[in-house]
Amino acid sequence: MGEKVAFIGLGAMGGPMAQNIVKKGTNLSVYDIEKSKMDPLIDLGSTPGKSIKDTIQNAEVIITMLPSTDNVRSVICSAEGVLSFAKPGSIILDMSTIAPTGTDEVYDLCRQKEVDFIDAPVGRLVSHAISGDSLFMVGCDNDEAFKKVEPLLNAMGTTIIRCGKVGSGIRAKVVNNFQILSIAQITAEALTLAKKIGLDLNTFKEVNAGTTANNGQFHINFMSKVLQNDIEPGFTIDLAHKDMGLAIETANSFRVGLPVGSSVQAVYGQARSGKFAKKDFSALLDYACEIAEVSPPRIKS
Ligand code: NAD
Repeated sequence: MGEKVAFIGLGAMGGPMAQNIVKKGTNLSVYDIEKSKMDPLIDLGSTPGKSIKDTIQNAEVIITMLPSTDNVRSVICSAEGVLSFAKPGSIILDMSTIAPTGTDEVYDLCRQKEVDFIDAPVGRLVSHAISGDSLFMVGCDNDEAFKKVEPLLNAMGTTIIRCGKVGSGIRAKVVNNFQILSIAQITAEALTLAKKIGLDLNTFKEVNAGTTANNGQFHINFMSKVLQNDIEPGFTIDLAHKDMGLAIETANSFRVGLPVGSSVQAVYGQARSGKFAKKDFSALLDYACEIAEVSPPRIKS
């Protein structure tokens, strides 16, 4: 891609996603408030920005991958933010997981500045972001703008799903994450019980995989993280708590009850009050085991 592309937010997901864009031949100007996060990109030849203004100067596409709705509002909408300096006709591609109402608000402001906006939150794990196998849920009103970002999405992932108009990508992400995060807690409880009552977990894994209880949290996420004795993030319990909150807030505003979701949210809330806050969300298993006084299970893959 010959056009100038800027990437803001180079954390657990944004870092490897940006690196994959560069490795597939598009150079980037990059920015993160934590300067050390820019180092791997600088090593690959990217240009570090001193500020948002400096980073996005003349950019055709500006990608944001930030933790929360407030971060996105601040980076895009504040006086020193993207919309104060973006040129008309440029495209903001927001890949963060935020409140759908936040996406709608930012999109309105973009339209006032004649800047295109696409929401493309990301599915799958950090390991997929590293290997370039992510899935994107795209909300987009403008096919020309989509064509411009498509090569970038293809550089970062394998699966692009057009969900509909702007805001539909983030809505799909919030609903899907509600399921993922609830299944993770069910999996943590099930494996704690299995260990407590003396089941052989390798055998139980085989049983589970052969039935409709089979799920990606057990067999992909937990198997590659906590069950291998690795609880470094990944996706933190703090961020998981934020995402359950987005689902519950969205459901409340439409008078939809999520009783299971509310219970699961309470667990994430308790887990983040202590040592697990910055650990991978598969560490829900170790948290559940701690409460039940069970030694946390580990399985050889
Ligand atoms: P992270 O905390 O590892 O990274 C966020 C980065 O944004 C950090 O490097 C931080 O310094 C930077 N940042 C924050 N405020 C900034 C600002 N004002 N200006 C510039 N940079 C700023 O988070 P992550 O795990 O990479 O997640 C990013 C988003 O992707 C979140 O919305 C998360 O919910 C979503 N997500 C995460 C995963 C995952 O597995 N980690 C998977 C899918 C989606």
